[in-house]
Amino acid sequence: MMSSVGLYVHIPFCLRKCSYCDFYSVTERGRASKYRAALLEELAEYSCRFDTVFVGGGTPTAMGEELALLCRSLPKAEEFTVEANPGTLTPELLRDLRAAGVNRLSLGVQSFVDSELAALGRIHSAAQAEEAFFMAREAGFDNINIDLMLAVPGQTAESLGRSLARIRALSPEHVSAYSLIIEEGTPFYENTPDLPDEDEERDLYHQAREAFEAMGLGQYEISNFARSGCECRHNLKYWSGGEYVGIGAAAASFCGGERYKNAPDLDLYLAGGGRKIEREAVDEDELLREKFWLGLRKTGGVEYFGEFPDEVERLAAQGLLEIRGNRLRLTRRGLDLANIVFAEFV
Ligand code: SF4
Repeated sequence: MMSSVGLYVHIPFCLRKCSYCDFYSVTERGRASKYRAALLEELAEYSCRFDTVFVGGGTPTAMGEELALLCRSLPKAEEFTVEANPGTLTPELLRDLRAAGVNRLSLGVQSFVDSELAALGRIHSAAQAEEAFFMAREAGFDNINIDLMLAVPGQTAESLGRSLARIRALSPEHVSAYSLIIEEGTPFYENTPDLPDEDEERDLYHQAREAFEAMGLGQYEISNFARSGCECRHNLKYWSGGEYVGIGAAAASFCGGERYKNAPDLDLYLAGGGRKIEREAVDEDELLREKFWLGLRKTGGVEYFGEFPDEVERLAAQGLLEIRGNRLRLTRRGLDLANIVFAEFV
């Protein structure tokens, strides 16, 4: 019997594909009801106690009221997050989600500058994003995350400043700020727009980090900032070696010392197939390496009781890692050069 496991639910529907996105989703919603039934059938295979639930995608809110029905049937977790696209929200849906036990909303805003949203292929405007935020507050959500994207086409310090000013005015409990990465198989991979270069990207990241800290949103992970006590418990499991079960097409799990995935295939999933494929047992050595390269993403770092591997000593000598007793963490410089650090452990 496991305890305190995270449940991730993947919803593979989007109204339209964004130009940069490589997550598994399809642009149809006609089978939302069948999909809900298939998810509950898969969930019934597990008897764990879930203390966090995270419904992500895709665009969960593209399912409309089917999503509220689904959430009503999911475990009543202490932290229950739903990802929402500002272009798909109504006051009714938000109220129904809240009534179904959802207590954290993650709004995929990405930018408060309309030209940047258009360049990314988002379906909503900056005004819609603000309206969605107010609607969520009105519906009783007192724990809201805003996703912001850095280094997007056309972004400058001035335009980022405008997005940051909007975030300051809205005063969310949590912000995730990831830099755009060009992934294979996306429209941006085929036709890459002009993007801020590496130095500009670092400057934008520093600008955002300083602004969040000034808003009282403390950095607790490379790309995540929160008011004290509002850190995302579900995502912290990923960075802390915690167990999680993923249900739905393309969902991944780490549970009982094993890692496995569902196939990224909606038809197969609805037919009851493609579940728990690519199973692999995770050995001690891999767990240790993961402990470092995932755990060091957290600003609090990781605790380790043993002789530090050579990589750790080397990175500490380069000023990228700081060792205090049994705890090691990235230095400010290490946070900037995190990819170099992680490459040592992968
Ligand atoms: S970024 Fe989100 S809304 Fe856009 S295609 Fe990907 S999953 Fe869908």
